[in-house]
Amino acid sequence: MNIIIFGPPGAGKGTQSSFLVENKKMYQLSTGDLLRIELKSGSKLSKKLKEIMDSGKLVSDDIINDLIEKKISEPSFKNNIIFDGFPRNIDQAQSLDLMLKKYDQMISLVLNLKVDKSILVKRISGRVSCSVCKKLFNEFFDPPGDASQCTTKECINRHLVKRSDDNEGTVRNRLKIYEESTLPLLKFYEMKGVVRHIDAMKSINEVTNEINSILTNL
Ligand code: AMP
Repeated sequence: MNIIIFGPPGAGKGTQSSFLVENKKMYQLSTGDLLRIELKSGSKLSKKLKEIMDSGKLVSDDIINDLIEKKISEPSFKNNIIFDGFPRNIDQAQSLDLMLKKYDQMISLVLNLKVDKSILVKRISGRVSCSVCKKLFNEFFDPPGDASQCTTKECINRHLVKRSDDNEGTVRNRLKIYEESTLPLLKFYEMKGVVRHIDAMKSINEVTNEINSILTNL
């Protein structure tokens, strides 16, 4: 089964995807993560990408669709993908439909993580992660023991890092783009009858349990 995990930046898409990877052995296809890997290459393209991502704007559909097709065409991921951060506009959703058809697949479920806008800015601008184990903390809601170090046993003394686009100015732009370009996609998937809404203001565990129960009762 292929799933789209849907919601604004800071809704917990990455966190909940990690649970699905761990517990259901799914493959997480995060376009944001793929782009951040490209950023590290130092290529000409990476400089252009960094500028776009640091401003909170969307990267061009051509680049994104190219990244996505490489993964969808991979036989070992077939019908076992969580799309995280994709699609982000109607054109991407239509391209996704065409690509899935080409590789004899479909979207069976869209999990819509709902969070009030008022807490999203704090959730994102407070976000830090361990540079080694990638565990996420939040400086406001879930502060690590020492502000600059990961307290996970295996990672003691490893440094916490902040994404360069997780700052208040960029966050507001990302939320605006989400409302204008991405949110209208819900209607597109509601018409296909595959959307399930989840209150993602609840604790991480409660949201995970709700997702598990949706999957069990499908
Ligand atoms: P994320 O990690 O999903 O928050 O994405 C970080 C940034 O990567 C976004 O603000 C965009 O600049 C870019 N990005 C990620 N996914 C997409 C996508 N599907 N389409 C366009 N840009 C994207």
